[in-house]
Amino acid sequence: MAKELFAIFGNPVSHSKSPLMHNLSFQGLNYDACYARYQLQDGEKLKHTFFSLGLKGINITVPHKEHAYTACDVLDPFAQKVGAVNTIVEKEGKLYGYNTDAPGFLKAISEFSHIKTVLFLGAGGTAQSTSSILRDEGYEVTLLNRSAGRLERYKKEGFETYTFDDFIPKPYDLVINMTSAGLEDDSLPAPKEILDAVIPQAKACVDVIYGKETPFLKLAKSYNKPTKDGSDMLLYQGIIAFEYFTDHLFEFDEIEAHMKKAFIL
Ligand code: NDP
Repeated sequence: MAKELFAIFGNPVSHSKSPLMHNLSFQGLNYDACYARYQLQDGEKLKHTFFSLGLKGINITVPHKEHAYTACDVLDPFAQKVGAVNTIVEKEGKLYGYNTDAPGFLKAISEFSHIKTVLFLGAGGTAQSTSSILRDEGYEVTLLNRSAGRLERYKKEGFETYTFDDFIPKPYDLVINMTSAGLEDDSLPAPKEILDAVIPQAKACVDVIYGKETPFLKLAKSYNKPTKDGSDMLLYQGIIAFEYFTDHLFEFDEIEAHMKKAFIL
């Protein structure tokens, strides 16, 4: 049996690429560990399940990132600030929580230069951590969401926020689909008139959905904009999680060399 056991907790979890990504890296780096998937129904049972399975670390996906946050004994300052944890490591019986989605996303968009203003389409859980890290890095983030409810917390934090009804289009360097529109359907994340007004003025367009060309990315390509999907975000959050799992024993680049094979298999 492997020395250390890791897993992804989520519901659903069968589609997750994380077991393949991490197992390829453990294998390639000769690190004695194994990574499984676990469908966790009840987020309240996260801590109990973690210890009863004898795990060393986990990633957490939808819908348990807030439960993961409350289950931790020690929080990394950024995870504490954004209230969402997607990586937990056990050390001497205590659970340490981190958020690697946001730095993974930041690295994924770093290939686009001269970006200052960013329009987020969507204001859900992923937007929460990524908007925060982008603002910390000096980007100006505006949020446009279908409904008003989720915008409240952003408004309180001083972000510029709009719904489809009160949005007045202006130029944004980067337009990002942070919604689940296009994930399992063919819908755009905002009315086409709005997208037709902001996309032509953007330097690039990004979707956090991966593994398919969404209607949003199709539309952006029709305007000849540089685009990227969510694959790099997924890869980079995984590499940063792996660094925590293995206590920074390996360099980012050497982990990447193995983990990225999960995207060509
Ligand atoms: P949430 O459920 O927290 O938020 C969903 C957001 O999408 C809300 O703002 C919601 O608006 C909006 N939305 C949903 N459907 C539509 C629609 N048809 N039209 C317009 N807006 C819509 O989801 P998450 O933030 O957790 O996830 C968002 C996306 O990010 C998902 O597609 C997920 O797969 C992806 N993701 C990718 C990762 C990666 O590594 N690449 C990592 C994590 C997430 P409203 O408030 O009006 O309901």
